[in-house]
Order: sequence, then C-alpha cells, then structure tokens
Amino acid sequence: MGKRYHCDYCDKTMVAAPSIVKIHIKGLVHQKLVQEHYQQFKDPETILKEEAIKKPCLRFASGQCQFGAICRFSHYTREQLIELRQYVTSKGKAEFDNRTLSFQDLYQKLQNDKCKLQDNADDKNSTTLYDSNGVTHVLPWTYNATLESYDENLPPSIKKMKLEDFKDAEIVEWG
Ligand SMILES: [Zn+2]
Ligand SMILES: [Zn+2]
Repeated sequence: MGKRYHCDYCDKTMVAAPSIVKIHIKGLVHQKLVQEHYQQFKDPETILKEEAIKKPCLRFASGQCQFGAICRFSHYTREQLIELRQYVTSKGKAEFDNRTLSFQDLYQKLQNDKCKLQDNADDKNSTTLYDSNGVTHVLPWTYNATLESYDENLPPSIKKMKLEDFKDAEIVEWG
C-alpha cells in the first residue's frame, strides 16, 4: 500500500499523490468543512461583521443551499442577526460596567486597607499604604487646593482627576 494522506477536516483518507490531494482540497465538501471548523472559533463580533454585509441566501431559506459556511450569502435570518447584535452590544456594555466597577472596587479596597492599616499600625497616625503592586499610597489622597483655581490651564499630569476620567481608560494597558 502506498503513502496515504488523511484530511482531518473531512476525516477522509486518500492516496497521497499531489494531484489527488490538490483536487480534494479544492473540493466543495472540503472547503465547506474547513470554513465550518473555523466558524466555531470566531467571536460573535466577527460573525456579526461578516454576516451584516451579506445578502440573505434565498436558497438556504428554502432549504436548498449546499454551500454551508462558504456561501457568499448569509445563512443567518434577520431575527438571528438582530439577536446577535443585541448580544454583542450587551456584552460590550457588560465589559464597560465591569471596568468602571473595578476601579471603584479598587478604591474601596484601598480605603478598607487603609483602615486596617491604621488599626494595626504601631504609629496610629500612619497614613502610608503599600499595596500588593508595590505602589506606595499616602492616604487620604489630597490635591493642592491652589492648583484647582487654574483648572483647564494645567498640564494633564497635574490636573485633578475625576472618577469620570477613568471611565474610558483601558486599565489592562496600564500593566
Ligand atoms: Zn478535506
Ligand atoms: Zn447559501
């Protein structure tokens, strides 16, 4: 028996001759299975982006489309696309909420740690806190009041930070 080629996508074995393998790889069934394989790893955002620009597949609607995942028309119904869009939107919103919450949690945690520290410290007046990231905080956080009168004229590095300033921040990127 000569060398055999096994296609994992189709779970099919054939003679390992370049011409035969080439024909198989160009075949509709193979292409369809490869696409369907990768489709399952796509995130909803990608699927939505791809499907939203396609026209609906009329053949699929009547149950006769043989192209599956490689069809250039969309196999998603209008309702499915609306659902998908709602899912993507709500997922984005949830991530945004989590991020905002995590900043408030962090602040709360620092405040709690500060109370703990003050309870336990030998020096009852100590307001210096070392967090788990090795950052030193002197609490409570204060801001030089005379700077406030300059407001918008200040360079960003010494401008007073408000909670709103952190809402769009990519906390992940801060390392
Ligand atoms: Zn194949
Ligand atoms: Zn189709």
